[in-house]
Amino acid sequence: MKNLLWIQGLSCNGNTQSLLNAENPYFYELFQKVELLYHPSFSYRENLQTVLKRIDSDKLKVNFLVVEGAVTSDMKFHRTGNYTIAQILQKLKDKVDYIIAAGNCASFGNIPATLSCNPDVTGLQFRFTQKGGLFPSDFKTKSGYPIINIPGCPMHPAWFTQTIIALLEGRKIVLDSFNRPKELFMYLSHDGCIRNEYFEWKVEGEEFGHKEGCLFYNLGCRGPMTHAPCNKILWNGISSKTRAGMPCIGCTEFDFPLRRNYFETKKNIGIPEEVPLGVTKRAYLTITGVAKTFKNERLNKKLEETD
Ligand code: SF4
Repeated sequence: MKNLLWIQGLSCNGNTQSLLNAENPYFYELFQKVELLYHPSFSYRENLQTVLKRIDSDKLKVNFLVVEGAVTSDMKFHRTGNYTIAQILQKLKDKVDYIIAAGNCASFGNIPATLSCNPDVTGLQFRFTQKGGLFPSDFKTKSGYPIINIPGCPMHPAWFTQTIIALLEGRKIVLDSFNRPKELFMYLSHDGCIRNEYFEWKVEGEEFGHKEGCLFYNLGCRGPMTHAPCNKILWNGISSKTRAGMPCIGCTEFDFPLRRNYFETKKNIGIPEEVPLGVTKRAYLTITGVAKTFKNERLNKKLEETD
């Protein structure tokens, strides 16, 4: 059976908690398909130091190395013995088949890299837009893949389990330019949002949590600019931020959370500074200008009041 080693850098443990909610397969089912060598929250038989010693002496071969959290060589955050997370990863990088960055911190640096003035706090192969983090941009593991990024704050458990299962089954994974599996991240968070009709007819949402209205025009929704299948693979199988009336904040993207003012749409003379991906500002203005002139009666009522 192939095995998996999970280690943590600067992390809030959110991706681990998200993984506990996995369904199809459930968390425990996943670890019937792949042996869990060590996880800081779940392991009790062996500590990380013992596992690392076995790997170091070539007594143990690791298939999947999963990293949760941003990485640093700062000794304040040493993980085991006198090793920093960066040193541990440097030792392991040529010994494992795949390295998977679980969550936005390990993928792009996220909050730890934003809060730290030290450029040494980084994602594994990216630091925000910059290619090359702890590892250079051309680094590949034994399998020929670079670091496989499963971003999100946290990542959805199914994005992780589907990736592991695809690799266990020997399927090829195509990655985008930010090393995210395309099968998952070629979609936008906007795709499948139940507010799409409001978006098309430019009917604006007024407040968080309401069932009506699109959150793009005033409330800062980043769905049309964010690569994530949040409205295709639903959270807990039932919902998503935008379905619940909360704008998408773009947490799967490389520039999260560098942007400010999450809950407002920045505009210039009433025109959003950023328009949906793939659309020019001129096309956007023409389409929305026309849409706004047709007042769709049904969409301007409370949904409970419509027949
Ligand atoms: S709320 Fe966001 S994701 Fe939903 S339709 Fe509007 S812009 Fe798209």
